[in-house]
Amino acid sequence: MATTFEEMNCAFPANLAEALELMSDEQTRGRPLAGGTDLMVQWESGVLPMPERAISVKHLPELRTIEESDDAVIIGSAVTHMQLRRSDAVVRYLPSLADAAATIGGYQIQTMGTVGGSVANASPAGDLAPSIMISDGDVIVASVRGERAIPVNEFWTGYRKTDMAEDEIIVRFRLPKMPEGACEVWRKLGPRKAQAISKVMGSCRLLISDGHIEQFRVAIGSVAPVCVRLRAVEELVTGKPLNEEAIAAAEACAAESVKPIDDIRSKADYRKWVTGRMVRGFLEQSLG
Ligand SMILES: Cc1cc2nc3c(=O)[nH]c(=O)nc-3n(C[C@H](O)[C@H](O)[C@H](O)COP(=O)(O)OP(=O)(O)OC[C@H]3O[C@@H](n4cnc5c(N)ncnc54)[C@H](O)[C@@H]3O)c2cc1C
Repeated sequence: MATTFEEMNCAFPANLAEALELMSDEQTRGRPLAGGTDLMVQWESGVLPMPERAISVKHLPELRTIEESDDAVIIGSAVTHMQLRRSDAVVRYLPSLADAAATIGGYQIQTMGTVGGSVANASPAGDLAPSIMISDGDVIVASVRGERAIPVNEFWTGYRKTDMAEDEIIVRFRLPKMPEGACEVWRKLGPRKAQAISKVMGSCRLLISDGHIEQFRVAIGSVAPVCVRLRAVEELVTGKPLNEEAIAAAEACAAESVKPIDDIRSKADYRKWVTGRMVRGFLEQSLG
């Protein structure tokens, strides 16, 4: 193990194939390094041991693009938060993801930090998770054995745990576009308006048709070991008229659905209450 940054070897593979080759060697694998905004802090504070080697993935051309297909936006894992918030495709078709990226740290962190780093870091307070979850898309991971798609809602398996194997890296995300006529909303509650780690945050995707709730997807972070989809709330309101009765029922169900903990940022009871209020706000947004 290295004990200082100076002792650590950082590999700069020329392309994805070279990076995967380096990842395949158990003895010298080291750790993928993107923007380093989580890793540098974790190494410096001793939360994670410094490896002998880091493998830089942020510069890999295959991981840096945002593309559009007919029904999805395909986002490379090394795309930065700044790229996300400025992308026309993301702003138009995944607006809560663009809004979430715009609330991460300050400009410096948004320019260095990547979507792949945020997702792989698997923190329940990672601000991109709710917007990614409500898209019902896939995380595409790769190794020398090939690529596989993991549904985003199955990617995080526990506190700071993911479904990735040791030799895999995230290469891209395939996130279905918001349907025509739908809207998305992102909300973040922190101790201050900017540069804050979330106490509770969440995103929703809402489609109203003839005054009825045709689709409602909602995910909330910082209230459990992993970001959670509130399926009970979604099922409760889908097909119902959008009125105070449905909103009140959704608020109560949301508060009951989460089992947060007390920690340095907030209390469990407060987080439950905020979750309910957030869901109410999401639905009220469409009442006009
Ligand atoms: C001052 C400051 C403020 C911050 N504010 C916020 C905030 O408001 N909201 C928020 O959500 N986060 C915040 N963060 C956390 C951080 O910026 C984000 O989580 C960031 O997106 C991490 O991305 P990165 O590219 O820097 O990841 P890195 O630090 O490079 O890596 C993080 C983890 O992901 C792994 N990894 C990286 N890329 C890949 C890949 N392609 N495949 C597999 N594994 C990979 C690494 O091995 C590591 O385990 C803040 C951090 C700092 C220092």
